[in-house]
Amino acid sequence: MEQTLVLLKPSAVQRGLVGEIINRFEKRGLRLAGMKMMQLTDEILDEHYAHLREKPFFRTLKDSMMATPVIACCLEGVEAVQVVRAMTGSTNGRNADPGTIRGDYCMSNQQNIVHTSDSPENAAAELSRFFKPEEIFQYELATLKFTYSVDEK
Ligand code: UDP
Ligand code: MG
Repeated sequence: MEQTLVLLKPSAVQRGLVGEIINRFEKRGLRLAGMKMMQLTDEILDEHYAHLREKPFFRTLKDSMMATPVIACCLEGVEAVQVVRAMTGSTNGRNADPGTIRGDYCMSNQQNIVHTSDSPENAAAELSRFFKPEEIFQYELATLKFTYSVDEK
């Protein structure tokens, strides 16, 4: 099974959307393998958003990500990276399809509620950036055999 990182950004924390968003992932059938609140720093954001370092919005993006603590989640499922990414919607909430998290809960290109990993390679690197190995839990959901067929897992 694949694991992916979700960060519930300060825009989700401030707007009281944490429970609703985690509920969506749970209802979809993803397993919550890790979850914690953390205050992000300049250093971790320089790594996490290294691909955006030259962008004019880099400073305001980092400030927005440090405005409150975030909730970091490790979600697990078959093809979890692409499933979670599809649930996220387009970066700019104003363009995101209704039914996606961004399309249902936000109006912004920056205050866009969640970060989600965009490839299995990035998911692995991001999970090790935000979680210690002992903060990721292995347990089996009792509903597993009703979530996937025997040949899907
Ligand atoms: N962002 C922004 N302005 C832009 C593009 C992106 O402030 O024009 C922010 C936004 O919060 C986004 C984050 O930078 O979620 C990371 O950008 P990326 O292109 O990786 O988008 P994502 O993967 O989050 O959809
Ligand atoms: Mg991205």
